Amino acid sequence: MADLVVSRPEGLWCEAGGFFIDPWRPVDRALITHAHADHARPGSRRYLCSAEGAGVLRARLGAISLDTADWGKAIDVGGVRVSFHPAGHALGAAQIRLEHRGEVWVVSGDYRVEADRSCAAFEPVRCHVFVTESTFGLPVYRWAPQASVIGEILDWWRANAAEGRASLLHCYAFGKAQRLLAGLADALGASAGTAAEGGALAQAPGPIVCHGAVEAINRVYREAGVALPGTVPASALADRREIGSALVLAPPSAAGSSWARRFGDASDGFVSGWMQVRGARRRRALDRGFVLSDHADWPGLQQAIEATGAGRVIVTHGYEAVMVRWLRERGLDAQSFATEYGGDDDGAGEAPDVSAPDVSAPSTDSSVQGEAGQGATPEAPR
Ligand SMILES: [Zn+2]
Ligand SMILES: [Zn+2]
Repeated sequence: MADLVVSRPEGLWCEAGGFFIDPWRPVDRALITHAHADHARPGSRRYLCSAEGAGVLRARLGAISLDTADWGKAIDVGGVRVSFHPAGHALGAAQIRLEHRGEVWVVSGDYRVEADRSCAAFEPVRCHVFVTESTFGLPVYRWAPQASVIGEILDWWRANAAEGRASLLHCYAFGKAQRLLAGLADALGASAGTAAEGGALAQAPGPIVCHGAVEAINRVYREAGVALPGTVPASALADRREIGSALVLAPPSAAGSSWARRFGDASDGFVSGWMQVRGARRRRALDRGFVLSDHADWPGLQQAIEATGAGRVIVTHGYEAVMVRWLRERGLDAQSFATEYGGDDDGAGEAPDVSAPDVSAPSTDSSVQGEAGQGATPEAPR
């Protein structure tokens, strides 16, 4: 029997159903896992995504011909039974399950296994073949719990505010920023009943300012029912005292812009999984790097793959070679797909220089760590 999904020049193709999944070129029919730019590209004739993801997909792609499916609801697409299941990565992010002639494939897109309230939690889906991402597929990547990272960010913000310096925190505008806002609101105790409508935070050191690109996505999250704390535009800051106590969320592209310069001698921070590797932080000349990713870490990838029960695993973007070898050593049928994913979110060009010694940091898995440390590691994700 032919494979249900193959890689073609346009994207991942399902011949039986006549559609592509996250195509990187315009096609007739595109099923979309999530609205990050490397997975959701403009120009296709018809789109299909999860109902939760519709708002943000439209915010990203504008007026498109879009169908949606509720979580877990099976629909027929060209004779293939298709359903969307939460990937825990960002609002609406889905794993796409395909069933045809008794065979089940799941295409993961991007996923994160630690749950938070900014999007539906990752759901393991049993399948025969699992197509997995591998953005952080090296043993060095192990995330601390989100609450402890949020605590570090709060400590940094409080210390800066005490010195009268703004805290300028760079993070991806879709997904990461909203996860931070929700996490900060929870940690700070939003005043009763008002956080959903943009109420004040009981113990915040100062106002939270969002760049326009972040605020546009905040709006979609709020419309989808995700309670985020009150945020203000930079223009609303009244005086030096307010500027000096603000936490400012801005996309990485705003670094060094005239927009960012209005905050004066701000402390610069960046939130990304890549911050786990010291070289990435050095190169950006940041005051602080915080390690928080919307992708699974190494144990998370293993856990997710195992939970599918799949006997065959196909690895897309990230450290494909390391992951494929690790899976084969465990007796699984593993291979990789060439794709054009890896951009915009944590997959963007923040990847560390993997020749740096930092990458062979302590690991409990000697077989794979050896490979990572010997320069056999593949090039950084695109
Ligand atoms: Zn993504
Ligand atoms: Zn991706």
